[in-house]
Amino acid sequence: MISIQDAQRTILEQIAALETEKVSVFQGLNRVTPEDHIAPWDIPAADNSAMDGFAFSHATLGGDRLRVTGFLPAGDVHLVPVPAGEAIRIMTGAPIPPGCDTVIPIEEVLDDGEWIRFTSIVKTGLHVRKRGEDIRKGEVVIRAGSLLRPQEIGMLSAMGTTAPAVYRRARVAILATGDELLEPGSTPAPGKIINSNSYSLAAQVLDAGGDPVLLGIAPDALDATCDKIKAGLNADMLVITGGVSVGDRDFVKEAIESLGGSVTFWKVNMKPGKPLAFALLQGKPVFALAGNPVGAMVAFELFVRPSILKAMGHRRLFRPAVKAILQEPAANKGKRPHLVRGIVSVHNDRYHVSTTGNQSSGRLSSLIQGNGLIRMAPEASYAKGGEVEVLLLDRGFEMGDALQ
Ligand code: AMP
Ligand code: MG
Repeated sequence: MISIQDAQRTILEQIAALETEKVSVFQGLNRVTPEDHIAPWDIPAADNSAMDGFAFSHATLGGDRLRVTGFLPAGDVHLVPVPAGEAIRIMTGAPIPPGCDTVIPIEEVLDDGEWIRFTSIVKTGLHVRKRGEDIRKGEVVIRAGSLLRPQEIGMLSAMGTTAPAVYRRARVAILATGDELLEPGSTPAPGKIINSNSYSLAAQVLDAGGDPVLLGIAPDALDATCDKIKAGLNADMLVITGGVSVGDRDFVKEAIESLGGSVTFWKVNMKPGKPLAFALLQGKPVFALAGNPVGAMVAFELFVRPSILKAMGHRRLFRPAVKAILQEPAANKGKRPHLVRGIVSVHNDRYHVSTTGNQSSGRLSSLIQGNGLIRMAPEASYAKGGEVEVLLLDRGFEMGDALQ
């Protein structure tokens, strides 16, 4: 059976970056840019005042008095040089007039309307923001492959970019399989259960920045499964849940193969989520995940999410792994690495983790309680207070409850 790491490597080798598209600058948020962004001009474009105050030439300052001969609000320019002994009343952001090099803030002068008298000593060049001190023309400000965060959106805008190119969102088709499934909105009849996996997986797609396409439910029959899979090939990737085990009614692997897909592997050495087939079908990656709700979501986390991120140009594909102090003794009696749902918290700058109890892979509630996955090696015991490795699944616990 292939290991988690080998399965991740094998899958990610097959994932290519999608095309790029131009989007409005806001839509670029949380997307990746394929190109270097070079500053078309200096930012700021000119030396300008950092304060509301008075601009003057420091070298020509005689005493502690200057005559105010002009007013320069932000947005205007003062073209004529300012003679020695004179000052211009200047507002924050206005370009320093020719002949001036220093600004004294309003708070540091006595102002009678015509003359100002300094009440403090200013050094040459004080309160002047220099041309290009933020960004120099020609500089690569945002590198190809960067994630566009709010600050990059602001910088692109400052450079005059209104429609940056970004990798397009991956369209991920989602197919549930099983005769027992009903769509949400009805009360399950005897023998039936509600298809929740399509929705947790679709939400995981959205959370990764992708665009889910719900294909509905395929009954446990080969032809019907093939038809649904074919429909899914319009998307960039296909995620199937259920029907991938060795039961009499598990048709997914057979369906993929009968459509000409090459199944690279169909079990991963892990718990939960062992039944997992990866295939390329007409060039499209197909992930057939477990039917049980936790196995499906955990396998998505480990294999599908990094694939979506890679397709969308991201460089950082994996959740952070941290060391945490185990709050109770725990053991993995099984022969497969166990990803135990854990509740992670931070105290005194250290991560602490406890398990969510019953680890049955049907218990979706274990993922509601938990926010991390503890890696437990096969046939290993862990003492209370010992260190374990945890994958952090969400950032909720990094948010503080109170102001610091
Ligand atoms: P399977 O792998 O098809 O044998 O499915 C294993 C179990 O997972 C089923 O018995 C269901 O209880 C559950 N299951 C399968 N598909 C879904 C689904 N779409 N939503 C919720 N539970 C499911
Ligand atoms: Mg099934």
